[in-house]
Amino acid sequence: MPRISESYNEDKDRDPIQDMIWMAGIKATQSRMAVAEILKAEKNPISIAELRKKLPLVSTASIYRTLEALVGAGNVNRINTGTPHASYEMAFGRKHHHHVICTKCGDTEDVETAKDCPALKVQHLARANSEKFFSITEHSLEFFGLCKKCA
Ligand SMILES: [Zn+2]
Ligand SMILES: [Zn+2]
Ligand SMILES: [Zn+2]
Repeated sequence: MPRISESYNEDKDRDPIQDMIWMAGIKATQSRMAVAEILKAEKNPISIAELRKKLPLVSTASIYRTLEALVGAGNVNRINTGTPHASYEMAFGRKHHHHVICTKCGDTEDVETAKDCPALKVQHLARANSEKFFSITEHSLEFFGLCKKCA
């Protein structure tokens, strides 16, 4: 892994968050670790605006760059909220789930469905009806409605 510098192995205090950022190919600065820590702590997906509120000392550019690298490395999911503002969540260690998104404020919540996701049936159907695809390996499914605050 060429992008991991020498200092990586010398740093005895590194933690999983730090490792994850290194693996995404960027340096694990305090700001970037703070972004990842918040994503890890949040129960539900969080928007960039919310991240900025929680991290007033971290530059917006740094938040964007961290998210971009972590999404690229597959550690963070970017959720299309149907608005210009996406939401973000940690990807690893998560059970398969779907999202409910408020059409008014964009607030996003994780919802688990049955153990065997019923949408897999639709996925198989999509594969069966597809002319171009050899395999369909995953799906994401978003529901839209009004949150309790906006209803
Ligand atoms: Zn709402
Ligand atoms: Zn989620
Ligand atoms: Zn599903």
